[in-house]
Amino acid sequence: MPGKKTPGKKTLEKKTPAKKPSPYLLLTNIGQLLTMRGGPLPRRGRALQEIGLVEDAAVLCSGGRIVDAGPQGHVLRDPWLQKHRGQVREYDCRRKVVVPGLIDSHTHPVFAAPRLLDFEKRTAGASYQEIAESGGGIRSSVAAVRAANREQLGRMVLKAFNAMLQQGTTTVEAKSGYGLTLNDELKSLEAIHDAAGRWPGTVVPTLLAAHVVPAEFAGQGDEYIRLVCNKIIPAAARRKLAAFVDVFCEHGIFTVEQSEKVFAAARRHHLGTRAHVCQFTPSGLGPLLQHQPASFDHMDCAASADITLMARSETVATLLPGANYFLGHSDFPNARRLIDAGVPVALATDYNPGTSPSPSMPFVISLACTHMKMTPAEAIAAATVNAACALNLQRSKGSLEPGKDADFAVFDFDDYREMGYWFAWDRCTEVFVAGNAVLGSDAS
Ligand SMILES: [Zn+2]
Repeated sequence: MPGKKTPGKKTLEKKTPAKKPSPYLLLTNIGQLLTMRGGPLPRRGRALQEIGLVEDAAVLCSGGRIVDAGPQGHVLRDPWLQKHRGQVREYDCRRKVVVPGLIDSHTHPVFAAPRLLDFEKRTAGASYQEIAESGGGIRSSVAAVRAANREQLGRMVLKAFNAMLQQGTTTVEAKSGYGLTLNDELKSLEAIHDAAGRWPGTVVPTLLAAHVVPAEFAGQGDEYIRLVCNKIIPAAARRKLAAFVDVFCEHGIFTVEQSEKVFAAARRHHLGTRAHVCQFTPSGLGPLLQHQPASFDHMDCAASADITLMARSETVATLLPGANYFLGHSDFPNARRLIDAGVPVALATDYNPGTSPSPSMPFVISLACTHMKMTPAEAIAAATVNAACALNLQRSKGSLEPGKDADFAVFDFDDYREMGYWFAWDRCTEVFVAGNAVLGSDAS
């Protein structure tokens, strides 16, 4: 029957979803609520275990924000709620697990096609570096992005955002980085902007013009960095298309010195900074840390001295095990070494066509538990509160506390530890953004 909803079947709003918050929402009958309350942010060391677990819980929201989240008996005694319960939309969570909307703080969604040739070569034994040297890798995505128009790219980005939402993600950082000219980088950021306007969640756009030296600048990395610093960053800032600037600081890509120039230009234009570092080789991170970046990402090969420096800073280490999985590496980021040293750790998908084509934060949480010796509690904290810190959104996102945004994901679990246990099994059944159902049988 046209328009009829199938009970229990997921429906995802395909048209422009209403961003207007519903006035009042009450989630009841929550088996386990992970409020993620407790302790200073970002979470470090043992504090990463704190998930603020409440059993038999409820959450009351008004105007897209949380009013109360805690034991159901306590929330239902709210004097305002007792008087106005008739005006409140109630949602029965049927004993499931409710967590803050997951935060994917590192993605590259602006690409035109999957890299199947590279993938096939890798299955035959070629390494990431060998593929890049033979003209594949990032450069093959660059040609396709330059040939695509803004609308085509925007559709690809929206498709990725919707796939992320289906897995419980309500906030996503999205990078450009496959354009590598002024116009193609701005076109990529505009595609992110277009998709963000048609997606109910929160999108944080990042300019990654310093992703790789484009072929036309071969052997002239400094020249390209000058273009990035003097033209591309100022244009993106002027048009308010980016919140952050990112750089791929890696042996054979951009040096620490070049990365510092990118950071300095970003700060001159009042943009935040973040960087890909130590994915394949260690770099001395001290000079970059002085710019107080929000996040250093990958960190697979970080040196001990840099870990000590990071433990004293507010910079979050964002670990991306999806890339290790997809590249078939046996080594994964050494989360224990970082956590035990007091470095705040976040997790993200690194969604991209070359090394991590997955939109699933629950899969990343599972990888963190199975390959990085993170406990389920630590992995969920790294995907919520600490990921919010990695995007400077900790005042509004990442935990379920009065005043914060009413963004939740509901999982069909009896126990939150199932988040790291099941893998390749999508168990997210409902998603709410700003107090509105955007995924699940109530979505409209
Ligand atoms: Zn990346």
